[in-house]
Amino acid sequence: MTQDLSFFDKVNLNFDKAARYTDYPKGLLEQIKVCNSSCHFTFPVKRDDGTIITIHGWRAEHSHHNLPTKGGIRYSTLVNEDEIMALAALMTYKCAVVDIPFGGAKGGIQLDRSDYSESELERITRRYTYELIQKNYIGPGIDVPAPDFGTSEQEMAWILDTYLTMSPDKLDAIACVTGKPIEQNGIQGRREATGRGVVFGLEEVCSYEEDMKRAGLSPGLRGKTVVLQGFGNVGYNAAKYLSEYEAEIICIAEADGAIYNPNGLDFEKVATFRAENGSIRHYPDATFIENPNDCLELECDILIPAALENQLTAENVNRIKAKIIAEAANGPTTAEANEILQERGVLIIPDTYLNAGGVTVSYFEWLRNLSHVGFGRLGRRYEESAFNAMLHFIEQATGYQLTDDERGPVHGADEQALVNSGLQDTMVNAYQEIREIQLEHGKDKIDIRTAAYIKAIHKIAQSYMQLGIFP
Ligand code: NAD
Repeated sequence: MTQDLSFFDKVNLNFDKAARYTDYPKGLLEQIKVCNSSCHFTFPVKRDDGTIITIHGWRAEHSHHNLPTKGGIRYSTLVNEDEIMALAALMTYKCAVVDIPFGGAKGGIQLDRSDYSESELERITRRYTYELIQKNYIGPGIDVPAPDFGTSEQEMAWILDTYLTMSPDKLDAIACVTGKPIEQNGIQGRREATGRGVVFGLEEVCSYEEDMKRAGLSPGLRGKTVVLQGFGNVGYNAAKYLSEYEAEIICIAEADGAIYNPNGLDFEKVATFRAENGSIRHYPDATFIENPNDCLELECDILIPAALENQLTAENVNRIKAKIIAEAANGPTTAEANEILQERGVLIIPDTYLNAGGVTVSYFEWLRNLSHVGFGRLGRRYEESAFNAMLHFIEQATGYQLTDDERGPVHGADEQALVNSGLQDTMVNAYQEIREIQLEHGKDKIDIRTAAYIKAIHKIAQSYMQLGIFP
């Protein structure tokens, strides 16, 4: 029974399923699959009232085939070693799927952040960073954390500051963590990157008429009804960019309940309401659903789990009515649920591809930090002069005066524009390659998840084979 398997076992099950479509030696496949190293830290922290508590934290580096390793840090009561290893493995496959030259890692601290004050969270984060430094689990060329569930730019700023304090001479020290605030060497567009990447991915997947027809839908995102589980960083930003494509968010679920309106919810008003009231409960113009998990079973075109793993399971799968499942969260669909949904023709866009926008823009941030110069800074003004000169030449040659509209955006690309362009390009190209693999093996034989894993296995296996370890 796969129900009894741990999260890491379930990730490995997906790996094994894909590995059957490759012919690499068993030992090489085993080496790709295992977690290269993991560490459990326990340390004391003094609370504001003077009491001392013991904190449990982990960091796992799943694959050293590329360095540094990369992966978020989450704060949640569910954090344990198995979860962190599973999430680190997903990071390895995700980086390979979108051609980002990192190995996979993940970290976490077992806590509910609402139980702690801001200053307590700062002390915990700084002490956790100290443990990472001491055990060699952080560094621009070693292992580079980022935000994940329950963490944000603030924690990344504390991590950076602690690391800088401990390594004042290191020229590249600011590249030790990504997802930092802009003022602390972050990059434009990282905060929105995962949600934006989810929407770029959805747009690409939904552009194939024959695939949409199989799912019982028309191409494009316009008018598609969406149910969103989790309204944090990823969920909020997915809603923001989906609304630009005129998709209709009909339900938003949070940990303490869900709101539903079949005529659509204004995501910005919901966010403002939550900021003012601390909850989406009592949001006007919507029906309140007490149990947020019930939202997963609503009739909709696209269901976006953007909270935690193991949400679509053997228990609720037969009540899921969505036609597309867009895995913004990591590991939201269990293996049993996946099989049943695939048999029913539901289109599942897997986490290993769909939520890769975060690590993609983290990669850009890391590159920016290593080069110590913002993207676009050197070329922007030069490009603008070149565009203007070209338009001036056209006007002179034709005798026609271009209007402002016709001149369009003659400025050079700034950092935000370059980040968005790189992110879109990454999401579109990666899906096209995955889809090609799927077509090669037959769409009826393998799903998108298996095709993505096949791509990742090839990429990592090739990298090992070039080392001459596995002739
Ligand atoms: P977050 O902490 O910003 O937001 C998570 C939200 O989910 C919170 O608002 C929380 O209240 C809500 N939530 C918790 N339990 C819930 C439940 N049972 N039902 C509904 N809502 C619930 O975290 P995030 O960064 O948005 O991450 C969400 C998911 O996306 C995680 O699985 C994470 O691993 C994945 N992810 C995040 C990033 C990133 O860049 N932040 C990148 C890739 C993947």
